[in-house]
Amino acid sequence: MDIFEKIEASLEKGAPLEREEILRLYGSKDLNRIGRLAHRVRTEKSGKNVYYALNRHLNYTNICTNSCLFCAFSKREGNRESYLLDPDEIIEELKRTPQIDEVHLVGACHPHLGLKYYMEAISLIKREFPHVGVKGLTAVEVAHISKVDKLSIEEVLIALKEAGLDALAGGGAEILKDQIRERICPQKISSELWLQIHKKAHTLGIVSNATMLFGHIEGLEDRVEHLLRLRELQEETGGFMAFVPLPFLPKNTALGHLGGPDGVDILKTVAISRLVLHNFPHIKAYWVMMGIKLASLALLYGADDLEGTVLGEKIGKEAGGTESLFMDQRTLLDLITETGFIPLRRDVLYRMGGKDEMG
Ligand code: SF4
Repeated sequence: MDIFEKIEASLEKGAPLEREEILRLYGSKDLNRIGRLAHRVRTEKSGKNVYYALNRHLNYTNICTNSCLFCAFSKREGNRESYLLDPDEIIEELKRTPQIDEVHLVGACHPHLGLKYYMEAISLIKREFPHVGVKGLTAVEVAHISKVDKLSIEEVLIALKEAGLDALAGGGAEILKDQIRERICPQKISSELWLQIHKKAHTLGIVSNATMLFGHIEGLEDRVEHLLRLRELQEETGGFMAFVPLPFLPKNTALGHLGGPDGVDILKTVAISRLVLHNFPHIKAYWVMMGIKLASLALLYGADDLEGTVLGEKIGKEAGGTESLFMDQRTLLDLITETGFIPLRRDVLYRMGGKDEMG
């Protein structure tokens, strides 16, 4: 039995793929066959639907105490390119795009910002734009707030939820293996803490996403380890909505000498994540970092979510994201329909109901 027959048999039985099978799949050069398997799974889950949101990113500050080697976004306090938006400025920014369904509110580990700032920002957003879902703060930011304010993770999460946080952002996962984290983001929280924060969020009724930054110094075993740890937590809590594979973009980073993953690696990783994470409802093709063409192709390799209009994104842009301004709704819908899918406008919790669907 070759690896594909073996995996087909596992899929038929609904059995989760095993570590060795996943590694053999990664080792295969038959990208199309891997893609076909992933497409089958994605079709079983989502039919011909591709989800998208009218959303914007709001990177409230780039001032960070950490120095992750892959990051082109952060600045030290006092740097002339550093900035911090106060809650009123966040509202002013959002007033420029009142039609959105979702705001993705993430920034950096600012040395002095505590819970009060975040609660004020989130509750103001909810008061001014009650229809907008707030997906925000990564586990790394949550841990940082707990340190600044000397509060437990649980206290921080409960307060953020009370302020109106709808979902926790999936960033900061990078590769969930500490030997890799020590080399690329030594000041960041451990793999275990990242997972514990998501677990705590899920038990408090806050859903989340999970990312994986791949194509830098990690090996394939490390990616597989990452996927398996996510699958295990999802088995326990069911609180993840989407997995977001993020190809590493080397420009303007301390890892600029690395090339980043090529298109084949990106599509293979999307497809393998669909096959491994059988318990994740959605796989996102994040076009800001993949590029629009590859992201639409990823829809045929297991992805069922094209993210959204993504106004205002800065993090991928600083690292050389080729398409990181925004996409208008018409272009997004055309991309989805031209690839043979049906666009479905979602809100932050993947509920349908966008009023001005154009598809
Ligand atoms: S990746 Fe996040 S935590 Fe790391 S330096 Fe950049 S902004 Fe700071």
